[in-house]
Amino acid sequence: MSKTASRPTTNAPSRSSTNPLLAAWRTPHGLPPFARIAPRHYGPAFKAALARHREEIAAIGANPARPTFANTLLALEKSGQLLNRVADVFFNLASADTSPALQDIERKLAPVLAAHWNAIQLDQRLFRRIEELHERRDSLKLDAEQLRLLERTHTTFVRAGARLDAASRKRVAAINTRLAELVTAFGQNVLADEQAWRLALDGDADLAGLPQGVRDAAARTAADLKSPAGHVVTLARSSIEPFLQFSARRDLREDAFKAWVRRGESGSKTDNRAIAAEIVRLRAELARLMGYRTFADYSLDDTMAKSPEAVRELLDRVWAAAVGRVAEERAALTALARNEGGNYRLEAWDWRYLAEKERKARYDLDEADIRPYLQLEAMIDAAFDTASRLFGLKFKELDDAPRYHPDVRVWEVTTKAGQPVGIFLGDYFARPSKRSGAWMSSYRAQHKLGKGSKPVVVNVLNFARGAEGAPTLLSLDDARTLFHEFGHGLHGLLSDVTYPSLSGTNVSRDFVELPSQLYEHWLTRPEVLKRFARHYKTGKPMPESLIQRMAAARTFNQGFATVEYIACALVDMDLHALETAEGLDVGAFETAALARLGMPREVVMRHRIPHFQHIMGGYAASYYSYLWSEVMDADAFAAFEEAGDIYDRKTAAKLKQHVYSAGNRRDPLEAYVAFRGRPPRVESLLKKRGFGGEVHRLSTLGVEGGQTPDR
Ligand SMILES: [Zn+2]
Repeated sequence: MSKTASRPTTNAPSRSSTNPLLAAWRTPHGLPPFARIAPRHYGPAFKAALARHREEIAAIGANPARPTFANTLLALEKSGQLLNRVADVFFNLASADTSPALQDIERKLAPVLAAHWNAIQLDQRLFRRIEELHERRDSLKLDAEQLRLLERTHTTFVRAGARLDAASRKRVAAINTRLAELVTAFGQNVLADEQAWRLALDGDADLAGLPQGVRDAAARTAADLKSPAGHVVTLARSSIEPFLQFSARRDLREDAFKAWVRRGESGSKTDNRAIAAEIVRLRAELARLMGYRTFADYSLDDTMAKSPEAVRELLDRVWAAAVGRVAEERAALTALARNEGGNYRLEAWDWRYLAEKERKARYDLDEADIRPYLQLEAMIDAAFDTASRLFGLKFKELDDAPRYHPDVRVWEVTTKAGQPVGIFLGDYFARPSKRSGAWMSSYRAQHKLGKGSKPVVVNVLNFARGAEGAPTLLSLDDARTLFHEFGHGLHGLLSDVTYPSLSGTNVSRDFVELPSQLYEHWLTRPEVLKRFARHYKTGKPMPESLIQRMAAARTFNQGFATVEYIACALVDMDLHALETAEGLDVGAFETAALARLGMPREVVMRHRIPHFQHIMGGYAASYYSYLWSEVMDADAFAAFEEAGDIYDRKTAAKLKQHVYSAGNRRDPLEAYVAFRGRPPRVESLLKKRGFGGEVHRLSTLGVEGGQTPDR
């Protein structure tokens, strides 16, 4: 997941202020002076920054001169720097290291900021200038990036409702303000439910089946949480998933699984169901005001996919193959349980456990064999080394740089010749103050206006820390997540654009997962594993036979993983395809939607609606984006395979030019075609997931011979 940074932050400080958020930052690399920032500073800082931004916007609108690119678009790009600087610090910390004080500010701030952005995007004086420039765009002698900026800005304003009549604009503003409150509450409730639940494991009986690495991590969690129990499992994915994979205690697996899938559904004050229903209802109304039949139509109109039909075409196709595969997997797991004397019906909390055993039986491969080779430190090195080979980057750790938590690590990123590229922050371990999941975000976006701005990018993950004095060992999934977020990180770091709004990850949501998912491909290549996957005790490289067994098992359990994911994407589409959502009961809706789909009863959605933060936040009607991007990432990696070298220089140079450094300089499909020489083909995706042999074409992906969607 990528959090798109709003606009860049450059220093726009006041010399005299004692508020560290408003004063000049005389810190290494201009990093935020975290140690000096206290919750009480945010209120006054936001107030000052919002006031300055309002003045800047008012000045643009009031300019008596005829609109020009410079006095309107460029002025807009330069505005709001102080606000972005304050907001980037606040929202990064509100996700990665929150507290009751920050949560309180977040609740109060959400509607204020929504109202602020509404006022700008619905400002008629400002919009008339943008509209006029847009009408005259062919005669303005703009370069390609300027023209793209004009198109994107115009589209953003139109989509925000700038063309609506006064009454509709007022209603849009009210809806957005309410949505901001609801989305904030939704996220805080999920975090509260995650913090409220812990499984204490006492004695050998409770630990049955858990390998040493998982026990160590649970012991470390108990110590971190100051729990009297020797071992604790939490609802963080990296804590509960290994527990569900290995625990031989079916009763405990059931308890843990039920708590996990019921986040946001507690029936108490953190219950998210009514909130989700109101969010969906307001979005449906918003879409109608904007002239669309449904929110999905509205949302998808400005993406690569363009329409719900195009999304469904891809999802349905892969779904059919995946459901068939789940049936085979279920039969194998049921047989396995019987052979072991298990006299029970296969349930969702059994799947991961039995799949682990099945993997062992079929491929002689077990997560516990892989984990000792995947040290966090070595995986960070592997991600850096790959970036060095592909894009010529160097990473130097800065021990004295400011950081917001002692666990955070900071690296200076340069070219091989030592030219500065940016700063990379890595925040790897789970803690109660951190939202679950993994994401990339920015403290400062790249751009070239004025003196320019070098990016400050952060990866936030939720790994379970190793035992005291021992290295942190990752599952293969964890290591993949690390590469994924680092791929987003590179999209931010390598960005090479002039205008802040087009910088880095500010691209279409169904394109933004391409740089991240593509990067995952390098992790499991033998070239990488042989050098970086070394046993934490012996230092010996991962044996060839283990690498081969991992490769053989690559598509194992892909039916389950695909169904778990696509069910979410389809429910997201169904939810946002409602023309009206009066009286919506999200629980009943989810049940009915899954029944229509023929969801296998042993598989549960990867994110159920009451804790589905992606779609309640910025990925509404967009959860399909990962699969859409996967069509491209599988096809893009094939370019390296075809070149016969996973670090092929020419392919890497094109990839950097057209994807990783290109921000939103051009239409995403055009950018892809410029890299690959043709539109993406879906076959690589099916092969990657082990659903090969079904060659078919999807017209809407702009597949060769099909249409290339117009922007
Ligand atoms: Zn992502």
